[in-house]
Order: sequence, then structure tokens, then C-alpha cells
Amino acid sequence: MVDLNASVRSLSGIGPARAQQLLRLQIETVADLLYHFPRGYQDRTPLPSLSCAQDGQVAAVVLTVGTAPKLARLRGRLSLLQFRAFDQSATCTVTYFGQEFLAKEFAVGGEYRFYGKIKKKGNRFELTSPTHEQVLPEVPLGTYRAVYPLTQGLTQKFLRNALLDALSHTDLSQADPLPKQIRTSYGLPDLAPALRAIHFPQNQQQLQAAQRRFAFQELFLFCLGICHQSQRTKKGNAPAICANEARLAPFLQALPYSLTAAQRRSITEIASDLQAPNGVPMARLLNGDVGSGKTICAAAAAYLAIQSGLQCAFMVPTEILARQHYCDLCDLFSSLGIRCALLCGSMSAAQKRAVTTDLQSHQVDLVIGTHALLNDTVQFAKLGLVITDEQHRFGVFQRTTLAQKATDVHVLVMSATPIPRTLALVLYGDLALSTLDELPPGRQAVDTFFVDNTYRSRLLSFMEKQVQQGHQVYVVCPAIEEQPETEQGELTPSLRPQLALPMHHAVSYAQALSQALAQCRIGLLHGKMKGAQKDEVMQAFVAKELDILVSTTVIEVGVNVPNATLMVVENAERFGLSQLHQLRGRVGRGNAKSVCVLVSDSQEPAATQRLQTLCHNRDGYAIAKADLAMRGPGNFFPDSCSDARQSGQLRLRFANLCDDMDLLLLANESARALFAQDPALTEYPATKKALSTLWQAHRNTFH
Ligand code: ADP
Ligand code: MG
Repeated sequence: MVDLNASVRSLSGIGPARAQQLLRLQIETVADLLYHFPRGYQDRTPLPSLSCAQDGQVAAVVLTVGTAPKLARLRGRLSLLQFRAFDQSATCTVTYFGQEFLAKEFAVGGEYRFYGKIKKKGNRFELTSPTHEQVLPEVPLGTYRAVYPLTQGLTQKFLRNALLDALSHTDLSQADPLPKQIRTSYGLPDLAPALRAIHFPQNQQQLQAAQRRFAFQELFLFCLGICHQSQRTKKGNAPAICANEARLAPFLQALPYSLTAAQRRSITEIASDLQAPNGVPMARLLNGDVGSGKTICAAAAAYLAIQSGLQCAFMVPTEILARQHYCDLCDLFSSLGIRCALLCGSMSAAQKRAVTTDLQSHQVDLVIGTHALLNDTVQFAKLGLVITDEQHRFGVFQRTTLAQKATDVHVLVMSATPIPRTLALVLYGDLALSTLDELPPGRQAVDTFFVDNTYRSRLLSFMEKQVQQGHQVYVVCPAIEEQPETEQGELTPSLRPQLALPMHHAVSYAQALSQALAQCRIGLLHGKMKGAQKDEVMQAFVAKELDILVSTTVIEVGVNVPNATLMVVENAERFGLSQLHQLRGRVGRGNAKSVCVLVSDSQEPAATQRLQTLCHNRDGYAIAKADLAMRGPGNFFPDSCSDARQSGQLRLRFANLCDDMDLLLLANESARALFAQDPALTEYPATKKALSTLWQAHRNTFH
């Protein structure tokens, strides 16, 4: 018997070279191999008879070999192997090219299942290079054939054999991460048969049961991780922050507006957490639609913490946003005597050192920054509150990483997009929930239109008109640039009427637009630019030195330029609804009427229906729900296109939160029950092991 955690080399037929190849698929151990799940299945249910086959049909047939394979040589070195095979209805010529070694495999009278494209000429059938499996009475042939992701040098057949070997020689009896009672109560198959069914399904029911089991397992472990995390954040010795109304009054007086009722309610909830009853630190999610004013609630929390002599760290996902928050909050806080600093990856080593020194000596009260804040060199004199904006990008299990820089730190997390309540309660089960369900007064509704490329010239005129009226325009493209060569080729001076490319790239788009609208000042912003460059462009846009900003989704999160009144999204079909809603939220921030134009030539009904949803809907929560239903959560948490630094987002391999919402709720229930019964999982070593593996994986994706 082979141990589940043993190297794949303990399986027969896997030596150093094979192990090296498998490593490229991130398969090191037998467990990794068993969890290397197929990317799909071929239906190899054999046709009832060969004569039923249509010409050109890809299908399986069971045939008996009728003649000994004959080998011939073609021009060059190519070999041709040919024989005849038959069933009760017809005869077929089977041909293989360049596979002479197969000659030994086919014995006259042997029965095989062939799978491939069947050619039919009159009454004659032909199969060229089909896959084949011998039909043996003792080995049942599943009708679904797994197809695996491969890497160079590995074949489907090799993986299948390795998996067969692993399945028959691995001891899985103690390895099931799902406790017995949970499997029983939800009718989930045990690990060993489920793995067998995933790799070698006998029929559809069996496969579906196994898939459901692994979806459940994934959600269950995730929820258990959340339980574990909430336990860590519940015991503590957090500093009690004096957080009453009188304390907050100077802050509120410094604001140029009065808070909405939802903001007041959320700040009250935050304030009561900050008082740390029984030393329990705050662990709260502030969930709210785009533009609902989350930042100022976070600023209120920071203000209260700082008034109590503590430091605050405010972490955001992009430099643009960090710089913007820094500018906004500096303005507000400097009048209140609060010392702010900025810390970003692109700052010079000397600049960074200056900030870290000031943090350590408590010369700085509030630091705003990106992932750079997580660096080990960043140490605080008295860190009391950690705020993360647009949190999901930092990884589900990472929300406390920054908080671990000091013990018992208060944590406030802000959602990037509104998250439906049921989902938030599960995904953020370790956090208390505050919701901003109200927009500040006077917000303009942004008129949203969905157009195709025939509107191109009208759209250009509309952009021009906005600029002439002194307003600014965003254009968002789904990608940064094409191959440099083709990009040059596309530039013709008379491009104006047909600025139509199949997929818009920010770089070439900006160039083409500069020619089409020569009198407009056009800027370009994308994730491959250096922080300082990005900053320069963004500052120029804020200072109205640019009229039109062509960008990728780097501007998606949180950017605030009230003078911008038009948002154009090219290839809108490529974006998630929540992401488009975010983008739309970049306009309509000032007093002038604002418009969002979604451009797409997609003919797909699903895509056009999605885009229509956005035209008729302003409520981010409703949009999030629709997005979830239509695309699933993999896309629900937007990826920020090619720009995003891949962080430990919630990436589910087996489960789909939209189809499996019920399963998620069940998994959550069972995880909570198990956790209540045995928080340390001492009775469930396999569960514990699986959880720590998951935890580790999230950590690795993060750094
Ligand atoms: P989000 O929730 O999307 O992060 P922000 O915090 O960026 O929203 O706020 C959006 C805009 O609304 C900012 O310009 C902010 O100054 C403004 N704002 C926030 N709260 C109010 C309010 N109560 N009244 C008027 N304007 C507000
Ligand atoms: Mg924001």
C-alpha cells in the first residue's frame, strides 16, 4: 500500500523523468495525482451497431478484429497499419499512421472499443487513428472517459494508468476529509469510490454523485476555514477605544456634508466594536454599493483609533487608489492634526525607509498603502486598527495577515462590490456585517446604453461633445496591447469612421483615438505602467490636463473624478456585471448628467441579455445577484482583466456558488456544527490535514 502523501515516484512506472513532468502540473504526491481532476469527459457509450453511424460522426463502437494488422511504409518514413474489424451489422477498415507498435496489440478475434471519427462511404466504414480499449469481461469499460489537462510529454493514457495504479494501491481508508456522519446524512459517496468515479465513471449518476461530493467537500472546508478564522479573531486583548459621539464630533464637523442614515448606523456599529467589550477586537465587513460612501466610514474608525493614541493601517489593492485615498484623507485629517503617510511598492527604497522609520517611532498615525504594507520591514509602534478596502482581492484567508503585525488588532474590511447578504454571511462568516444600503443624496442616475459598432461615429461625436462642454471621458478596454507589429499596422490616419477592432486594446485604441479626435488631450493608463507613470497620468486627469483617459480596468476600483461624465466600455461582453457596475460608478459623481455606454458586437443572447440588465438596473445588489446567477462567483469577484496581480481570491474548482448555493448553505451548516463540536478537529485528523493544505494553498497564492 502506498501512502497518500508519498511522492508519485512510489507508484510503479514513475521515475525521476515522469515525476519531473508531473511536477509541471503541480503534482508531487499521490494525493496531488488523485486530485488532478479531469477537465471534461467524453461520452463513449458505444453505438448499438456500426451501421447506425452517420458519416463524420465522432462516436464509440465495439468491434471484433477480423484480420491481422498489416504494416506498410509510405513515402518518407511514415508507417501505415491497417486491419479490418466488424460487428454484427457491418465491417470497418481501421487505419493508424506512424504507430507501428500497435501491430502487436490487436489480436484477431479480440474485441475492442474504438472511439473516433467514423467515415461512411456507401456501406463501407472507416476509422482513422481511433483510440482503442480492449473489452475484457473482468474490467468494465466506463462510458464516460476522463480527459485531463496535460503537459508536454504526458499522455492521457499515461495519466490514466498512473491513476489506476494510485487508486488500487493507495490506502484511502483514513483519508476522507468529510466526516462519516456528514457523508451519511447528505448521502455523499465516500472518498475512495468518489475518486474512482471522478476518474473512471461507470455512468452519469455515479459521476454526478462524485462531483457533488467534491463540490461539497470544497465548500465545507472553506466554511470550516472561516469558522477557524473567526475563532482566532474572537479571543483577545484588544485595546478599548473610546468611541462615543463627543469623540467623533470634530471629525464630523470637518466633513463638507452630513452623513447618510446608513453611514451613521454603520459608524455606530463600528464604534461599539472598537470599544472592545471583553477585549474582543473588531472584525467587521462594511458592505455597500459603489458610491455609498464606505471610505468615510472607515475614516471615522481611523479617527477614533488615532484619538485613542493608536496607529491605523489602510490597505488598498492598487497604487492609484492608495494615492487617491492618501490625497483625500490627508486633506481631511491634516486639519485634525493627524499625520498620514503613503507606502507603495513603486516608491524609492529611501522613501519607504523613511515611512517605516516614522511608523516605528510613531511619527505617523495613519499609513495608506498597497501590499507593500505586508512587507516584514513594516513595523508599527502601536498598531490598533487595520482597514482593507476592496478586500476580496487580498484573499479570503489573508484578511488578518496585516493584523498579525500586532496582537489583537481591530479589523475593518470593505467590500469592493455589493455582496448579496446570504452570500456575505457565509463567505465572510467570521465578520460582523454592516451594510450601506443608501446612496448619499443628490446622486445622479447614470443613463446606460448598450450599443454595437454601428454607433461608432456617433459615439466619437458624443465623446467630443462632452469634452467641448468641459467634461471628461473614460474609455475602458479589456486588454492592454496586441503584438506590437500588428498594432502599428492598424493605424491609418483616416480611421475615424471605422475605429472598429474585434478586441480593443488600450494602447492602440489610445493612439487611434488621438488621431480621430485630434483636438482632445488623450491619456493612457494600464497595469503594466510603473506606479509613478500611472500616478502622473491619473494626476493629469484629475487636474483636467487630460480630456479622455483610455485605460484597462485599473481604474475600476474606487477612482473618484467628479468631472468625468462619460464612461465608454469597449467589448463590454468581456466583463462581469458587477465589474461593469463598478466601472459605471466612476461617473455620475459630480453634478452634471452622466452617461455610460457599453459597446459590444456580441450576438450571443446571453451576453446581450446581461448587458441589458445593466441598462435597466441601478441597484448594485440586484446586479450582483443577477451576475451570480448568470456567470457564477468565479467571475463575480472581478479579476481586473490582465492587470490584476493574482491574489488568493476565492477560486472554487468544483463548486459553482450559483448552482450550488443550496450546497453552500448545507456545507456551512455542517462546518459550523462540526466546529462547535470539535474546534481543534482532534477527532478528525483527515479533515484537519485537508484544511491546513487549503490554508497553505491560499497563503501561497497570496505572496
Ligand atoms: P464607495 O462606497 O464606492 O467606496 P466612496 O467612499 O468613494 O464610495 O464615496 C463616494 C463619494 O461620495 C465620495 O466623493 C465621497 O466624498 C462622497 N460622499 C460620501 N458620503 C457622502 C455623504 N454622506 N454625502 C455626500 N457625499 C458623500
Ligand atoms: Mg471605495
